Amino acid sequence: MRKLIEGAGKLGIKLTTRQVKQFELYYQELIEWNKKINLTAITDYSSVQVKHFLDSLTITLALSEKEVASPDFKIVDIGTGAGFPGVPLRILFPQPRLVLLEPTTKKTAFLHHIIRKLDLQSVEVLNSRAEEAAHLPAYREQFDLVLSRAVALLPTLVELALPFCRIGGRFIAQKKGEIEQEITGAKKAIAVLGGRLDQTKKIELDEFTDARYLVIIDKISSTPSEYPRRTGVPKRRPI
Ligand code: SAM
Repeated sequence: MRKLIEGAGKLGIKLTTRQVKQFELYYQELIEWNKKINLTAITDYSSVQVKHFLDSLTITLALSEKEVASPDFKIVDIGTGAGFPGVPLRILFPQPRLVLLEPTTKKTAFLHHIIRKLDLQSVEVLNSRAEEAAHLPAYREQFDLVLSRAVALLPTLVELALPFCRIGGRFIAQKKGEIEQEITGAKKAIAVLGGRLDQTKKIELDEFTDARYLVIIDKISSTPSEYPRRTGVPKRRPI
């Protein structure tokens, strides 16, 4: 885990021996399960450390110490897949409540397995699509922090994510490549859903050869009850 340890160091994170062991086990289980179900195309030891684990930890650049130390702080990871970025963040911060949202049952089976294997506490795995879960009172506008990586283009993604965010909370989308146009195209949707673009933070780490960003959107007013629209519509017809 040398690459992860070094990269995390550049983010100001000193991983403990236990955390390094958890990441090592996470890697082994990911590769083992990936033989049976499609969890990731990135499999070599070095790339997983950087492109999955370290990339997930870049979220810490937008978090405060107070937030991550609080058991009252609630985080949801939309379309978490094999657990990114939610699980690496949970390894780092045991306190906040974490919901991992993922509609593919095979992937949620892996998530249940890895939570047990790594002995992670207060993590809920929710086997649902964002379009459905966001209308349930237990999840709608309940989260201080909504995360999502590699799930949809921003105009669609904000409709899937912002309904989960409480007013005063924020949504952080992990994005890479040419994002200007994506952000411009999402402006209307952000406003309609009760958001306001706060900032786009560029990740400055030599470990990444491509441009990576955190797009940070504040939730400033309630999302109208008709959003998100029914399953598939946010993708087919973005606002
Ligand atoms: N976030 C993970 C990562 O960065 O490795 C997984 C990314 S994977 C490319 C996209 C994931 O989003 C898939 O696991 C898929 O099942 C999930 N997804 C797609 N549409 C979704 C929706 N409407 N609601 C929730 N999750 C969704």
